[in-house]
Amino acid sequence: MPLRHASPLARLTEPHHGERRALLRAAVLLAGGLGAGALHLPARGQVRLPPNPFALGVASGSPRHDGVVLWTRLSGPRGFFGGLEPLDAPDVPVRWEVAEDERFARIVRSGQTLAAAALGHSVHVEVEGLAPDRWYFYRFLAGDARSPTGRTRTFPAPGAAAARLRLAYASCQRWEHGHFAAWRHLREEDPDAVLFLGDYIYEYPGASGAVRATDGRWVQALADYRQRYALYRSDPALQAMHAACPWLLTWDDHEVQNDYAGEQPGDSGPPVADFLAQRAQAYQAWYEHMPVRANVLVRALSGLAEGAALRVHGRLDFGSLASIVLLDPRQHRHPQACGPAGKLGSSYFDPAACPAWGDPARSMLGAEQEQWFEQAASATGTWTVIGQSTLLGPRDLRPGPGQRLWNDGWDGYPAARRRLTDALQRQRSSNPVVLGGDVHENWVGHVLADYADPRSAAVGVEFCGTSITSRSGGQARTAERLAENPHFVFADAERKGYGLCEFTPGRLTTTLRVVDDVRRADSGISTLARFAVQAGRAEVLRD
Ligand code: FE
Ligand code: CA
Repeated sequence: MPLRHASPLARLTEPHHGERRALLRAAVLLAGGLGAGALHLPARGQVRLPPNPFALGVASGSPRHDGVVLWTRLSGPRGFFGGLEPLDAPDVPVRWEVAEDERFARIVRSGQTLAAAALGHSVHVEVEGLAPDRWYFYRFLAGDARSPTGRTRTFPAPGAAAARLRLAYASCQRWEHGHFAAWRHLREEDPDAVLFLGDYIYEYPGASGAVRATDGRWVQALADYRQRYALYRSDPALQAMHAACPWLLTWDDHEVQNDYAGEQPGDSGPPVADFLAQRAQAYQAWYEHMPVRANVLVRALSGLAEGAALRVHGRLDFGSLASIVLLDPRQHRHPQACGPAGKLGSSYFDPAACPAWGDPARSMLGAEQEQWFEQAASATGTWTVIGQSTLLGPRDLRPGPGQRLWNDGWDGYPAARRRLTDALQRQRSSNPVVLGGDVHENWVGHVLADYADPRSAAVGVEFCGTSITSRSGGQARTAERLAENPHFVFADAERKGYGLCEFTPGRLTTTLRVVDDVRRADSGISTLARFAVQAGRAEVLRD
């Protein structure tokens, strides 16, 4: 009997819906680390591994005070084992170890799981029972192969005092647009965690003036998405950053398709007959490559949704110092409004000419997530960190009277934005700090109670990050745009890099770090600007 028939994933031979549900159920079983007996692990030596099965590296994420998710994905030189299609390839038993020391002399947790072919041979282990607020080392073993060693940490216990949290935020790492020198430098800065805010991959076949080549394909099906993630993870700087600390993640559009909105496709690539099927495959590939908990799959598991629907939003507390709220403004949003009739994707528009613009029925997060945010916004941390994919504050691109806005960001969903700032006030959110990405430009400013009223009080601060590599338009109009949108205090539309927030009980310091030349892997780095926010004052000051 072939090995795969011995595993619970044998049900994958069932077509379509049942297949996906069995797959998701298997993911939960595997991440939970059920014993070898329950999983019917193939005996040692039955599976022939490729020469370097851990070439995509290791990662960790979704930290709690007592545990963390460990990730790896086995890969072979031709994508899969011996050139077999994933479902024909065998599942592979993988051991994992967590130690207090880098030499694994003091192993505190270990176990065995399966790299399931149906999940691209990805491995997600949800480790529990770790001590709060400390660093650990981890690795995987398969056959005779041993993975690189990763380093990760737990968060402080709920309510426990914490002196400091160094949280990096980053987004938009288009492969063709540059090298990942930013990740190499961030690793040297040794943050506690990375908050990745979207556009982990781009689905395009390439770019004009590409610094690096992709395989030249439009990414539209599961095998394409897997290959694109594997390409990005082959980058040593990105791989090393994943191995250095836990990541918290949300996503934006390019993990699926440019400018898609909920269940509506965007405007890039050859037409696809069934967009929801494409989206489900993209979501599966994202799950396979990210150090996230299996419960992100739970809505699909319960059978409420056809195909994959992932629960990306969530909240993680860093002791009493910070509550990190992750939002998903992409999966549940209404389609963009105010563009030319019949046009998919994003557009620039004049809100005065678009009655649908302010329609309160239109949502960015979807009703369920909006409701959830009410609870999340009442978080108890000194700092309420809101990680979401894009720029929150309005960016009017027309100088003087009248407005020109972009409908893919919060500017296209003003009623939903108002509900978000209302919730912050209603729940008396403690020191809201909104972090974002998407626009490939650094924007720093104040979150206003009512953006429609320029005299409105600030209820929080915003740092929208530039891209790791993805291009932007340049500085020609930055000063003009800042003047037009005075809730922002700083903008830069040229430099690439990341932001590093250092939270203490009394103060937040945010440093914008930018690479000298995104086209060079050996690029240097420098500080573009530094800002300070005192706890209790929604005011961002140049430091
Ligand atoms: Fe982007
Ligand atoms: Ca204007």
